[in-house]
Amino acid sequence: MKIFQRNSPFSNIVMSILLTLSCMIILTTPPQVSAKTLTQSPDHDLSYFESAMVTLGKPALESKNHSSSSGQKKSLVPSFNTDCSVWSRACSEEILKIAKKPENVKWVKSIRRRIHENPELAFEEHETSRVIRRELDELDIRYRFPLAKTGIRAMVGTGKSPFVAIRADMDALPIQEAVEWDNKSKNAGKMHACGHDAHVAMLLGAARILKAREHYLKGTVALLFQPAEEAGNGAKRMIREGALEDVEAIFAVHISHLLPTAVIGSRSGPLLAGCGFFKAVITSEWGVGGNLHQSGNPILAASAAVISLQGIVSRESNPLDSQVVSVTFLNSGDDHDAIPKGVEFGGTLRAFANTSFHHLLKRIEEVIVSQAKVYKCSATVDFFENADTIYPPMVNDEQMYEHVKRATVDLVGPTNFRVVQPVMGAEDFSFYSEVIPAAFFYIGIKNETLGSVHSPHSPHFMIDEDALPIGAATHAAIAERYLHERDISINGLPDISINGFNQD
Ligand SMILES: [Zn+2]
Ligand SMILES: [Zn+2]
Repeated sequence: MKIFQRNSPFSNIVMSILLTLSCMIILTTPPQVSAKTLTQSPDHDLSYFESAMVTLGKPALESKNHSSSSGQKKSLVPSFNTDCSVWSRACSEEILKIAKKPENVKWVKSIRRRIHENPELAFEEHETSRVIRRELDELDIRYRFPLAKTGIRAMVGTGKSPFVAIRADMDALPIQEAVEWDNKSKNAGKMHACGHDAHVAMLLGAARILKAREHYLKGTVALLFQPAEEAGNGAKRMIREGALEDVEAIFAVHISHLLPTAVIGSRSGPLLAGCGFFKAVITSEWGVGGNLHQSGNPILAASAAVISLQGIVSRESNPLDSQVVSVTFLNSGDDHDAIPKGVEFGGTLRAFANTSFHHLLKRIEEVIVSQAKVYKCSATVDFFENADTIYPPMVNDEQMYEHVKRATVDLVGPTNFRVVQPVMGAEDFSFYSEVIPAAFFYIGIKNETLGSVHSPHSPHFMIDEDALPIGAATHAAIAERYLHERDISINGLPDISINGFNQD
């Protein structure tokens, strides 16, 4: 996720627009927990993951001798008493039970620590990718490699349709870690300061749970390990190289320092902003120092363009549809005695709705080119599309969001699911959401006692690892249940009794 350094006045605005993407599938809709139920108790009930706290201790206090899982085949499958050929809450409980097994908790935390110690930047995640593949081999899960240089597409299930995907990003940031602990980054100037090490561990945790329950899967779960989220639009390249082949819906999680440990948060519609940058060059048609009365004046043209750009948001946009256009630099040289031949300036744009974002791109170019003409100049505008710096808004599909909510409320209880506000950060998961219905959600890692309160991209960033097993279980429940409900939408309910179906 990209975090913007300057605070935007829009960063905490309650969004009223809900942009619903067209949905390619129809899910059956089991009884839902009402919004009222969700807000009745603000208490944070931790009982559902108590046993997830048993191993490895807290990161800052850990001894040097944490065990590694390598070289040891895992016994994954607890004895099942539940027949999950029809979904029920008991299936969620079985998933949670696997995630909370002490050896699985220890394993998922140790993976996160191994990756944390060896952070790798965009498209350089070679060792991270190797660690993942080794674990997939251990779990006897097949996969395609490479996609997008270091990316992996693993598969669990029948190998047949329907396909649902879960994605984790793998890259770190060019930041020097300031947290002193046993598993501190060993790569100077690089750090997993956005929690992507945790994302990988949770997805591998989900792989392990899903493999243990493969006989229940009514289709295929594609597990996408993606490079280069922070820079380079890894998602775009994953899609280009076939990551979404046959996939009809996709989900992803990001850690959040704003939510208490293991609390899940999301919302329907716009969640993260679209983000882009632009650079305009305005040149005089008459050249440097031309006749002051007849020549175009790029300084005047640029000044008029900058002022007009401010009007796009203030005069043309719906005040309830948060948008930003900011000019952040302007350069015309330092000659005191002549009108320059050219001026360049640029800035950034943000919007929560796809239509608004694309409208801004169009209007920025129109305004600059038109104002240049008024002053007898010409203009070009570059949005750096080839440099992969444009991120579309992350808009949660309404049905996929409802699915996440149902699955997680069933899994962790209504008090541990929160509806969150949109923020002006950006995330390249939005590229997937432009292709198929998608939902992005958060998992809390905030624990004041531990000190995991710093925002992502801070050198002091750390997480409460007790979130990891719950994140793994959440992924697994979302995917397995998706396939169940999809199966019912295709084939109808099975003949066996459905009395227990999703009953509270
Ligand atoms: Zn980030
Ligand atoms: Zn991130």
